[in-house]
Amino acid sequence: MNSLMIKQFKTKRIKNKKFLEFVSKHECCLSAHSSYPCHANVQAHHLLKPYDGVRGMGMRASDNNAVPLCYYHHAQLHDSHGNEDMFWESFNLSADYGRNVAKKYWEKFNGKN
Ligand SMILES: [Zn+2]
Repeated sequence: MNSLMIKQFKTKRIKNKKFLEFVSKHECCLSAHSSYPCHANVQAHHLLKPYDGVRGMGMRASDNNAVPLCYYHHAQLHDSHGNEDMFWESFNLSADYGRNVAKKYWEKFNGKN
């Protein structure tokens, strides 16, 4: 086992391309909360603060920690908000909105809902 494999084993990073595709097929999770008409180019955004699992230095969150965001909001989050919790709060949402959305889609994807 090389060191990279050990790292992945330790952090239990979930990789799931199908889930990312599933997420990106949904509406931007801010479409109901923003005046911006977000229709096109929905992408799966990896949460900066995952609800599950550890995000190591320079590592992406596990793929189960992903939410649908349109290109505009995705860029806005990365450009103007280093702080994800505050980003959600700027839309009058709770700080854990993204984590709740990710969880909801992950459970839906796995047929728990
Ligand atoms: Zn949007």
